[in-house]
Amino acid sequence: MKRLRSLDIKYLKGVGPKRAELLEKQLGIKSYYDLLCHFPNHYVDRSSIYKINQLNGDMPSIQLKGRFISFTTQGEGAKTRLVGLFADGTGVIEIVWFHRIKQIKDAYLPGNEYIIFGKPGEFKGRWSIIHPEVDSVAIATAQQGLRGVYPLTETLRNKGVTSRTLFNYVCTILSSLSSVSETLPLDIIKRLNLMPIREAIVAIHNPRDNNQLQNARMRLKFEELFYMQLNILRYTRKRATIIPGFKFARIGYFFNTFYSEQLPFQLTGAQKRVIKEVRADVGSGRQMNRLLQGDVGSGKTLVALLCMLIAIDNNTQACLMAPTEILAMQHFETISKLVSVIGINVKLLTGSTRKKQRDLINTQLQDGSLHILIGTHAVIEDNVSFKNLGFVVIDEQHRFGVAQRAKLWKKNTIPPHVLVMTATPIPRTLAMTVYGDLDVSVIDELPPGRKPIQTLLRYEEQRFQVYQAVGRQLKMGRQVYIVYPLIQENEKLDLQSLEEGYELIKETFPSYNVAFVHGKMKPAEKDFQMSQFATGKAHILVATTVIEVGVNVPNATTMIIENAERFGLSQLHQLRGRVGRGDNQSYCILMSKYKIAGDTRRRLEIMTNTTDGFVIAEADLKMRGPGDLEGTMQSGVAFDLHIANLATDGQIIQLARNVASDVLDADVELSHPDNLILRQQLDILYGKNVNWRLIS
Ligand code: ADP
Ligand code: MG
Repeated sequence: MKRLRSLDIKYLKGVGPKRAELLEKQLGIKSYYDLLCHFPNHYVDRSSIYKINQLNGDMPSIQLKGRFISFTTQGEGAKTRLVGLFADGTGVIEIVWFHRIKQIKDAYLPGNEYIIFGKPGEFKGRWSIIHPEVDSVAIATAQQGLRGVYPLTETLRNKGVTSRTLFNYVCTILSSLSSVSETLPLDIIKRLNLMPIREAIVAIHNPRDNNQLQNARMRLKFEELFYMQLNILRYTRKRATIIPGFKFARIGYFFNTFYSEQLPFQLTGAQKRVIKEVRADVGSGRQMNRLLQGDVGSGKTLVALLCMLIAIDNNTQACLMAPTEILAMQHFETISKLVSVIGINVKLLTGSTRKKQRDLINTQLQDGSLHILIGTHAVIEDNVSFKNLGFVVIDEQHRFGVAQRAKLWKKNTIPPHVLVMTATPIPRTLAMTVYGDLDVSVIDELPPGRKPIQTLLRYEEQRFQVYQAVGRQLKMGRQVYIVYPLIQENEKLDLQSLEEGYELIKETFPSYNVAFVHGKMKPAEKDFQMSQFATGKAHILVATTVIEVGVNVPNATTMIIENAERFGLSQLHQLRGRVGRGDNQSYCILMSKYKIAGDTRRRLEIMTNTTDGFVIAEADLKMRGPGDLEGTMQSGVAFDLHIANLATDGQIIQLARNVASDVLDADVELSHPDNLILRQQLDILYGKNVNWRLIS
């Protein structure tokens, strides 16, 4: 395989420098190896041949066998096309080419028998196929059965590169390969009953049958995911051995007193379990890096607080970082209320903290009398230094990049334990990959007594009824959120609809106070408006997605989301999580201006059918693909996958991770001769570069 990477595609028979350039530009294919790894993205069954008089309705690509009767050139200039009449004894069909007219006319001889393959279309009762694949009967017959369809670009097609062309190139390489050296250790292949590499590569391009194809796909997906996991895990293990962490050996006064006297409610089973997991980590002497996933409203804050108390019991300081000022403030208020009575010193640091207070905070941080610092990005600035930072909580991870996480670690010679909390539920298998260096804890249980939020999809003509329902909630003393899409692409229009919405709401509910926030407001104004709502002085909050994260107003029972079709599913889920935080039945109404259909409708129906964040995240991932997943880009993981799919291959990811983990358990340095192949492959795939995980 190594040799194949160094062989330039331009030397392959039939390619040449010009086409090589085209292949590189369009598909990134430079070497023989790249071409072999350009797998078909689907397969068509070419075992049956249709008759022209069998054509009907909406057919997939099919094969016809017959002869060209004539070729005529029609149209002029850019519209010039070549039309061949193709007959098979049951009828005649038009075959149309817009490009490479001369070559085609020369290549296909009237009278000879051909098999053509393409998608038939009908226009005014006449059938035609545009740009089909054309093969002599001899070649086509040799290629019966499943035939791969390669991903191509429009440019390539216009230049005459078809799926068939690529297949022919691949065949040329395969026929000249005497052997392909195996890329996985033999014992893994044997244990998992995987197809050998050579067989898998042949089968993926030219499968004998579906069974063989599936085995080939399994082998190749496993390999790709296995090396990905092995790479992630070897650095994680290495870091664990190089960098010791704080050992929090005891549970002391603060934790115990708070737990027995101040706990506002009984912890849920899931909260208890997570605290246990964290305790085991921080007691191990290794630095903890743990991702805490818990759906909105699952009570992550309390868990974070208890963990911070353990740190304080062990004579270190703790820090909680939130993505927005509002959220930092809210955490500060909740937490200081809970722990001030037991003598814990908590302070808030944000961009708008005054100099005098800043100085006080710095002094106390350095002399150790400040136990918990809560804040925004301000806490990672260079001039903020701790006496002994032992525990860091990062709330809503997706707003922070890896680099920022790393900055916190550097605030101490011994790196603090890190708990990253997110309510954007990432499917576990994806979390392993995106946050490969993090262990994962999950709070999968909501506090008792919560009633599931009822979610409804409503259209413009039902607005009046929707407002009536809002009126009933207001009358019962509840509060209401009305959310507009983020001010974005068309800023002016968005702002206008937001302001109009605000006016409309004030008119509709004249006896209630309405607060109003959006991202373009001055922070002070925003905070004022938010606090009006948080304290209950305002009954309705008209807002953009600035309220998305973390805000906690349990008395708010209704949320209307305008233009809901413009939001992503995970975002809708986050927004919806602002209601349903108290004991009362809550409602989320997704408004859409137009009747929506198709995918958009299916997306919103997922929201009306479930409140389970994991189900929603999986659906979102499947519909949008992992590339779009928030936070994925920042995480620094490049998803350079040829065949595996992070969204749908969860089971194989898990298997790959287990196998990789076993390998490292036995030989963490991969120095055993049997593991030579692993080291070689890792070098080829990931280079000898030091991974960012090690640096951070
Ligand atoms: P999130 O996980 O979304 O950050 P919070 O920590 O803000 O959730 O908690 C949501 C609400 O649930 C808060 O009002 C909190 O006080 C409450 N809560 C947390 N844990 C429990 C519990 N074990 N029992 C009852 N209520 C709880
Ligand atoms: Mg929260």
